[in-house]
Amino acid sequence: MQVLHMNKGNGDTSYAKNSTVQSKIISVGKPIMKEAVLEMLCNNVIESMGIADLGCSSGPNSLSVISEIMDTVEAANRLLGRRLVSEFRVFLNDLYSNDFNNIFMSLPAFYDRLKEEKGLELESCFILAAPGSFYGRLFPTNSLHFVHSSSSLHWLSQAPARLESNALKRLNKGKLYISKSSPQSVVDAYLLQFRNDFSLFIKSRSRELVAGGRMVLSFMGRSSTDPTTENSCYQWELLAQAIMSLAREVYILLFSFPMFRFNYMHVVVSCVT
Ligand code: SAH
Repeated sequence: MQVLHMNKGNGDTSYAKNSTVQSKIISVGKPIMKEAVLEMLCNNVIESMGIADLGCSSGPNSLSVISEIMDTVEAANRLLGRRLVSEFRVFLNDLYSNDFNNIFMSLPAFYDRLKEEKGLELESCFILAAPGSFYGRLFPTNSLHFVHSSSSLHWLSQAPARLESNALKRLNKGKLYISKSSPQSVVDAYLLQFRNDFSLFIKSRSRELVAGGRMVLSFMGRSSTDPTTENSCYQWELLAQAIMSLAREVYILLFSFPMFRFNYMHVVVSCVT
């Protein structure tokens, strides 16, 4: 959690330029998000609405979610003919090494749009970064009204603890995740890790959300109960093959050229999806 991050910046291989799938997922979830915001507002006047996007990454997706939430609030204001929310406190969360600067740079244009399109003044919208892991407390007690997280909760806090402690047994040799060749103990190890992480996530948010607050979470699932179907594992299988062939090349390099033998090699795999 200290080092992993999506590809920074705005270049061709950056997350910002390669996150249309995630943007699509956000679009599909928008009606659900709208409904949840409206339910939360139902007859409530909120002085300062706390909103958090957990796992915001860099690029345009996070601010598009925030804009949608604000639109929903504005629509409710118009419908009821009164201002239900006086100000927005927006927290953008991701791991410490996330490229928050990329989002910060887009804030002036975002604030201009809020003013032009929604008539919102700068004094009524405060956007802040909240770096840290969502597997634990991030915000003060009872400070949030709405929590959103998309395409982020399938990230575990660590490699399954049971696999780490059995590393020497190579239970999941050549694989990255659950696959057809994984023994049941590997499936169980991932399940246990997810259970522990997700419980911690829910426990932390339950302290941070006000009573009647809402949370909309979109993350990977599968339609089959079998976690090893091609549908569930296809992309991880390809990634495992790519990393294995990379590792083989490093191995050949190490043993063909003795001068490399005593250097440690760190293979950093940048993931843009
Ligand atoms: N929500 C964005 C980004 C999805 S990418 C979108 O829909 O486009 C997933 C993001 O989750 C990454 O930026 C990753 O750094 C972040 N993430 C993973 N584990 C996290 C954790 N424990 N705490 C906070 N952020 C995390």
